[in-house]
Formats: sequence, structure tokens, C-alpha cells
Amino acid sequence: MGKLDGHCLCGEVTYTVANEDPVITGICHCTECRRQSGAAWSIVVAVSRDEIEITGDSLRTFDTIGDDTRVPVHRQFCGNCGSPIVSLAEWAPELAFIKAGTLEDASWLEPELEAWCESALPWALDTSREDRGYFPRGLDTEGADEPSEVQPVSS
Ligand SMILES: [Zn+2]
Ligand SMILES: [Zn+2]
Repeated sequence: MGKLDGHCLCGEVTYTVANEDPVITGICHCTECRRQSGAAWSIVVAVSRDEIEITGDSLRTFDTIGDDTRVPVHRQFCGNCGSPIVSLAEWAPELAFIKAGTLEDASWLEPELEAWCESALPWALDTSREDRGYFPRGLDTEGADEPSEVQPVSS
């Protein structure tokens, strides 16, 4: 079993990644990731699109244009059980963002950064972990090399 092998809830869609060193591990707070995952955020592992192999006849794609991101994202999921598998964002044509909850074993995963923090639910943003990058918006936006300060939301 590879470190980046995974499958959907019903098991029909599976994937494996040739290179086991992720490009990015992160948390995405964007509105679409929250809606798709049904959770407060989405945990993603970015890998090279050339190196991921996804199999399963039930794989479907739903395209979104983000309320906050304003960029098209092709969201691939299992049409049988509904599990999100990968997001293919047009701003990062070389990357596939694996929805890390579908990994066989995600216990090694420690997110390096959090993106779209300005869309985060107020209770869901803990900026006390200074070794993590916090991006108010996406990684493609200005100043992406240097994460800007994100102030915790206070009432
Ligand atoms: Zn499935
Ligand atoms: Zn997102």
C-alpha cells in the first residue's frame, strides 16, 4: 500500500500516486470545499496530475466557480457513494488536490498551510500554530510566497 493510495466510501473509485512526496498538504476553508465536504473545511494533499492514477467507472466531475475563489474547479467524486476524490483547479493545472479524508491512511498527514482563511467559519480558524502558513485567500493570489497575518475573528 502506498502512502497516497485511497478510495471512496463504497470502494468503487480507487487511486494511487506514483510519487509519494506531496507537493502541498493543507486545509482549505473555501465555500465550495466546505459545501462539498459537508464539513468546516477540506483537508487536501496536492500531487502532480501526471502521477495520480484514478480508476473506477463511477467517477464523475462537477464543475464549480467559487463564490470566493472566482476560478473554475473540476471536482471529481464517486457518483455511487458521493465521496469527493480530487479537485482539479484551473489556477494550478499541474496539480491534483486529493481529498485527504479518502486516503487509506492519513495518520501521517500534518497540514502545512491553511488557505481561504477569510472564508473560514469563525470557530474553525486557530492561528496559534505558527509553523503553519495562513493565507487569507488562495495560494495563487498576491503575496502567496509569504503568508500574511490572519487575525483570529473576535466578537
Ligand atoms: Zn464510491
Ligand atoms: Zn477549497
